[in-house]
Amino acid sequence: MKYALVNPKWSFEGSTYFGCAEAHFPLELLSAREVLRQAGHEVLLVDAWMEDLTPQQVRQRLNSFDEDFLVIPTAPSYLFWRCPQPELRVPQQWIAALDRESKKIVIGPHGSVTPLATLRKTGADIVLRGEPDQTLPQLASMPWEMIAGCVWRDDAGRISATPGLGATDMRAIGTLDYSDYPVEKHSHLHHIFAGNGADHLRRGAEVEFARGCPYSCTFCNKTLFRNKYRERELNAVVAEIDHLIARGVEYIYFIDEIFGVGKQVRELLEEIAKRPIAIGFQTRIDLWDEASIDLLARAHCMSFECGVESITDEGRDAMNKNCRITTERITELLVYARQRIPWVQANLIKVREDDPVQVAAWQANLKSKGVWVSEPVPMFPFPGSPEYVTTFGAQPDETAWERAHEFYLQLFVDKGFSDIQDQQPLTLQQLEAMDEEMVCVSC
Ligand code: SF4
Repeated sequence: MKYALVNPKWSFEGSTYFGCAEAHFPLELLSAREVLRQAGHEVLLVDAWMEDLTPQQVRQRLNSFDEDFLVIPTAPSYLFWRCPQPELRVPQQWIAALDRESKKIVIGPHGSVTPLATLRKTGADIVLRGEPDQTLPQLASMPWEMIAGCVWRDDAGRISATPGLGATDMRAIGTLDYSDYPVEKHSHLHHIFAGNGADHLRRGAEVEFARGCPYSCTFCNKTLFRNKYRERELNAVVAEIDHLIARGVEYIYFIDEIFGVGKQVRELLEEIAKRPIAIGFQTRIDLWDEASIDLLARAHCMSFECGVESITDEGRDAMNKNCRITTERITELLVYARQRIPWVQANLIKVREDDPVQVAAWQANLKSKGVWVSEPVPMFPFPGSPEYVTTFGAQPDETAWERAHEFYLQLFVDKGFSDIQDQQPLTLQQLEAMDEEMVCVSC
């Protein structure tokens, strides 16, 4: 069968989205392509964001390929599945504009929690809930009733759904093939900031070493995908890094939920230390000590972002952070890291257990030592997080995204938007009603 995998050109005007708005590798599509090819399918991958293509230009490529299945994600790259834009405007717009006869499949965080609303809003035929890498090929080889997390509309408009969620065996994801991918267009260096020791780096890439996380922080939107911790084969990852270096990549950002947990991390870092490549990632400071931070420095770590969340044990406990070190030790390790790594960041979340005066003092102390500390911000109660259930007292239903979005906007009504929300966001209904106008603009 023929599968066309299309990463649309993303835009976030009026959105509460606070992730990075630059183009990144569509790792969910590159990864799915490996598994589809292993199963003997023909695959066309089009990254309209990286290549700056209009729907009309993509349609021409699809016409030549003549796909059976068209796959579109609802969030840009696996990197942002845990903090996606709440609205489905872009996939709505692209599915309408591409106007294909093939079966249209949507993958991503939206359909994973609200499959019926996602089918209705996007006009797709199939939603695959959870991780789609291994369920996509099953659509061509199995009765759909046997595929975990498959929700579809038949020709008569009837909806069927199977229980479960796709969850990928990460050892099945071999070295990703970039031979026909425009790596050279990826000049963005994720989470690198000018004037902070990495200005010499020219070309960036993203790599996935491991998926999931063994912790269960209340605010974390990972219960429906990328949940259980799984590592790829080390050799496959190192080979991928070598291919990227050969294409001129000088900096790799690991998209892992939590870099630093796994059994093979030290071995990976030793391999990276031998190569002309710098790295960045998100992690928890309590996974590291002085010796492993020294190893990070040898592995040319340029960007070290840590979710600290709260400056008190009580605050961290309230978020089920399961942090096993004290605030004093956290401070000590962040400062030690900053003496060896150009960009060290500590993220905070607004919690009632933390006294704002003490937070300001902690921020000032760390900033004086070169560590960047975020302002404590309220979290969006993502429908795949335990926080959603606590906030609304029920499991998410098909209006979960609308409910969470409305709640989040209300948090800012009196106080104005924070440093990560520098505009007045629209309601979800307004955002998703913008698609008709944007189809015309993009075509
Ligand atoms: S440690 Fe990070 S990735 Fe893991 S559950 Fe907590 S917030 Fe999520």
